[in-house]
Amino acid sequence: MGKLDFLAELGIETENAGGYAKEWCGSGSLLESFAPADESVIASVRQCDAGDYENIMANAAKAFACWRLEPAPARGEVVRQLGNEFRKHKVALGKLIAWEMGKIQAEGEGEVQEMIDIADFAVGLSRQLYGKTMHSERPGHRMYEQWHPLGTVGVITAFNFPGAVWAWNAMIAAVCGDVMVWKPSSKTPLTAVAIQKIVNDVLEPLEWNGVMSLLVGSSRDVGELLIHDRRVPLVSATGSCHMGRKVGEAVAKRLGRSLLELGGNNGIIAMDDADPGMVLRAVLFGAVGTTGQRCTSTRRLFLHRDIASDITGRLVKAYGQVKVGNPLDPDTLMGPMVDGSAVETYSAALETIREQGGEVLCGGNVLDQTGHYVEPTIVKAKPGMEIVGDETFAPILYLFEFDSLEDAIAMHNSVDQGLSSSIFTRDMQSVERFLSAAGSDCGIANVNIGTSGAEIGGAFGGEKDTGGGREAGSDSWKAYMRRQTNTLNWSDELPLAQGIQFGD
Ligand code: NAD
Repeated sequence: MGKLDFLAELGIETENAGGYAKEWCGSGSLLESFAPADESVIASVRQCDAGDYENIMANAAKAFACWRLEPAPARGEVVRQLGNEFRKHKVALGKLIAWEMGKIQAEGEGEVQEMIDIADFAVGLSRQLYGKTMHSERPGHRMYEQWHPLGTVGVITAFNFPGAVWAWNAMIAAVCGDVMVWKPSSKTPLTAVAIQKIVNDVLEPLEWNGVMSLLVGSSRDVGELLIHDRRVPLVSATGSCHMGRKVGEAVAKRLGRSLLELGGNNGIIAMDDADPGMVLRAVLFGAVGTTGQRCTSTRRLFLHRDIASDITGRLVKAYGQVKVGNPLDPDTLMGPMVDGSAVETYSAALETIREQGGEVLCGGNVLDQTGHYVEPTIVKAKPGMEIVGDETFAPILYLFEFDSLEDAIAMHNSVDQGLSSSIFTRDMQSVERFLSAAGSDCGIANVNIGTSGAEIGGAFGGEKDTGGGREAGSDSWKAYMRRQTNTLNWSDELPLAQGIQFGD
């Protein structure tokens, strides 16, 4: 493939700015998609306006009327075809994700693999949307519960996983019988268009248009319409805690449901018996991977005092060898940040860190070259530094020392967010303490693996300000359906529950 040949494979014509004005891309103003690696415009995408929004919602409602009655395994068959198309385009789509978002190509392809994995999972799930049966207290009665689709699900996604987060929602919601309207981040509209093109190639011949639609546009112009819309019974929103508060409030006000996947402030606790090589690798991937722009990125490292200087020395050395550069270059370990404002956030955080007494052990600079490149940074934290409580979405890692596991857990749990956490130790008691009800307060708690890189089989999400939502595997599908309890009387009598006699 030539430099940007992957665009052609995905059916994107870069010379034709705004040339994607098919029904999913609307008739509003043009939005430019930038490559953070060299700040060039990749292409322009036509956004949706309020009229397009109404059309999309009407098409979705029309599709839902039929899709909800399609047997779930038949819906799974459609999802199977989607998964196969993602497989075919894995490399090209992975490259586009890398080029538009800035993560390295291996991670871009990994993200597409996640889309494939969740499609596979959803296919199996389409035959396992189980409800329970219960024994009725009344003779000649049967009780059971069944799960029905909800309707139109609004999916709002963040820039950092421009494909996978949509797929986690869309593949599961689709087998559940819902239809989806997807509002992607305005920082990664081209990836969304490329994915929607793949989706359309599958859905259009099957005449299932409207099951999955794309709504490119700003939060102000179309996002707000979506969250206030009573025709959208569930809004699944991924992004910052700030966004989650707004979305959660708007949806709750109309008594809708929201599934919130918000910011994290993830920590690793390394005990004195931890394998140093494993800690090093986990921290490096967790803190430097995706340029520190994962919700599960490792932001805080708690080191037992006896191993602190050894691990710190190894980390500083490893950070010095991280190759920062073009995300499509196979030697690159850390690509650019997503845009100029992300770089400003990084610089502002470093200024605050220094003001609050943090010691920058390595990194801390913006690279003087075209593209949004910064150095991965390690900071020795000063106790009580307020900025540590913020999720600075950048490759900045704070180091802390501790003497006892209890202290480490208390420090770890002291932040507002509660997404991912991990401990490195060989000691069973430490493991169990960390995983106990008095241990990590996060939605994800790992042992001897880092905070980032979750598998799709588990329920993904976090507590506290992370929003409480759960997506992907396990029984997360229940969030996309409504439960109905059915009591069925096959006798000739009409006995009342609790043995009540009424007017007999
Ligand atoms: P963001 O909050 O700026 O935007 C996320 C999405 O919300 C975008 O599509 C944006 O347009 C939309 N949005 C914002 N305000 C809205 C409103 N009022 N109405 C409707 N839509 C609105 O986040 P970002 O910078 O794109 O992503 C980074 C953040 O996302 C980080 O905090 C990260 O931790 C979080 N994140 C969380 C998870 C998770 O699963 N917990 C996964 C990925 C990213």
